[in-house]
Amino acid sequence: MTSRLDLFIDRMVSQRACLDFAIAETAVMQGPVFELGLGNGRTYHHMRNRIRSRNIYVFERAVASHPDSTPPEEFTILGDVNATLPETLSRMGAVASLIHADLGGHNREKNDIFARKVSPLIEPLLAPGGMMVSSDRMYFADLAEVPLPEGAVPERCFVYQKP
Ligand code: SAM
Repeated sequence: MTSRLDLFIDRMVSQRACLDFAIAETAVMQGPVFELGLGNGRTYHHMRNRIRSRNIYVFERAVASHPDSTPPEEFTILGDVNATLPETLSRMGAVASLIHADLGGHNREKNDIFARKVSPLIEPLLAPGGMMVSSDRMYFADLAEVPLPEGAVPERCFVYQKP
């Protein structure tokens, strides 16, 4: 039987594999990267280390990250993503080269309900060719699900791309 520790490790390993894959696949793009859910800031820190030539905007309800992993104020979009994603779309348009979402908590059912609600708010923000990495299955109208890279565990991470 898979333990909670196994699941946690699988999620972390998959998150890193999928992020590294999507960062490399979108490296030729210049549009910004969106991090949805800062939390402790581990995935933000990882992306900041590996992405040098694109701005990274962070969407978070309340910043409580490790001091080393706190984004500059001008790249922090504070508030509930249900409001800040549509606001960002009307301000910036379909510009994102990469969107990473890790907004869920421990309840898988609630995470799924939230994923269904937030998917249509995320989809229009991606530029053509842009990729989306998520810890939860998303529900997009027109994005294609991309096969997972080596090292990622099925169902622990999902990768999508806008045609
Ligand atoms: N990836 C992060 C890391 O590596 O440290 C962990 C992210 S944590 C699991 C999820 C974060 O999403 C929390 O900090 C929470 O406040 C944020 N969040 C959840 N729902 C949100 C919403 N509706 N609007 C904005 N932020 C939200």
